[in-house]
Amino acid sequence: MALNDGQALLDVTRLNRIIEFDEVQRQVRVEAGVRLIDIFREFHHRNLTLPSSPTESHSSVSGAICANVNGKDGWHVGSFGNQVVSMTMLLASGELVEIDKSHELFNVVIGGMGLTGVIVEATLQLKPINSPYLDVTCIPATNVDALLETLASVERSNDLAVVWIDAYARGDRVGRSVIHAARWAERDDTEEERRAYVQAGYERLSRHRRFGLAVHEFFGPMLSLMLNAQRLMLPVFNRLYFAMNSMKKSLGRSSYSELFLKFSFEASFTVPPAHLVCGPYGYTLQLTFPKGEAREAIVELLEICQTSPCPPVTTVLRAHKRDEGLISFSEDGYSLNFEFHPKKRHRDASRKVIDQLLEATINRGGKLHLTKDHVATPEQFRRLYPRYRQLLRYKRKLDPGVLFTSDLARRVGII
Ligand SMILES: Cc1cc2nc3c(=O)[nH]c(=O)nc-3n(C[C@H](O)[C@H](O)[C@H](O)COP(=O)(O)OP(=O)(O)OC[C@H]3O[C@@H](n4cnc5c(N)ncnc54)[C@H](O)[C@@H]3O)c2cc1C
Repeated sequence: MALNDGQALLDVTRLNRIIEFDEVQRQVRVEAGVRLIDIFREFHHRNLTLPSSPTESHSSVSGAICANVNGKDGWHVGSFGNQVVSMTMLLASGELVEIDKSHELFNVVIGGMGLTGVIVEATLQLKPINSPYLDVTCIPATNVDALLETLASVERSNDLAVVWIDAYARGDRVGRSVIHAARWAERDDTEEERRAYVQAGYERLSRHRRFGLAVHEFFGPMLSLMLNAQRLMLPVFNRLYFAMNSMKKSLGRSSYSELFLKFSFEASFTVPPAHLVCGPYGYTLQLTFPKGEAREAIVELLEICQTSPCPPVTTVLRAHKRDEGLISFSEDGYSLNFEFHPKKRHRDASRKVIDQLLEATINRGGKLHLTKDHVATPEQFRRLYPRYRQLLRYKRKLDPGVLFTSDLARRVGII
């Protein structure tokens, strides 16, 4: 959720209509507050999908545009902005503008964190799929070299992939991981059958989400206590998870079919959000780096994490494709998403680790996913995003009275 401490937040949740669908072009026009999950609910049984969807299925379309979110399919379909055909934006002057890919504001708005105007509607490009199911394979990789080699072939023959990494593995095991690769499954169900199982999947997801959120709310303080043992527990858990996946592979049980809804969205409520467990001390960092430096970057970032008194609880790697958003984080490369749950007494040491991670990322020409950030300083932001000056020029021209702002904008200096 956007934050704007002490100032107004614009609620777009009631802009929730799917306006029209062009069957020939496979394009859907929606209001800004439509949630991504609603688009899947409407179109998946028709064998159409919305690429680049983040794990948070309740993101709004406009939130996904402004954060230029990424899915598990980023290396071939790019980030969310790539799926935007056009959008209608309300400027600070009160003027409505229609912005398509050829408009000079397109790359200002995509990933631009909503600082130049209010998105009111958008047209999105849907993509045909074989069925709403995925054929999933889990592939263990013993270290970073095995990971990158396997990933290269996974990227050639799969539609989605996400990698769990054991941030505690060291030495020649650094980068030990499990790749979850998936391709759209071929099935010959009728549309009615698809409608029924997508609906059932959607209901299951809603139940799990409600349950997961309630559990996290309820057990947040208890999980907080368990943090004291995370350095002992997590290496054991990680080793078991890797061993279990290796065993499944040797038993020929590492492949299965599941609904995209489950593969893509369920993880968002299995790991408790850092703020529920650690309050203001918890944080998520997603850092991208170019493909050519992947091996060195992964090793360096993981080794920095290991110097922390509280290494990440989860570490996830994804593949991406570059786009032209002025402050958008996608690269032709990979990202590592770290979820840190530090204890209060480790606040300063954790901050030092964040700074080292950001410095290493800057030195490799990488980026930081701004929608997940609440720690970057103005100086770090400017070095991560040298093109921010162009955004600032547009901002000052379109919104001279600074009508549109946020905590992030004030913290990093986009005002
Ligand atoms: C559990 C979880 C999992 C996640 N997984 C992923 C992931 O896999 N990949 C990924 O990329 N991200 C991920 N995210 C981040 C999330 O997808 C983004 O933060 C997304 O933008 C949230 O959507 P929202 O509707 O809540 O937008 P908000 O957080 O409310 O807004 C995001 C930005 O867009 C601006 N904005 C929103 N609507 C408008 C509008 N109508 N006009 C102008 N500006 C607007 C806001 O001001 C803000 O700057 C995850 C988040 C969570 C909590």
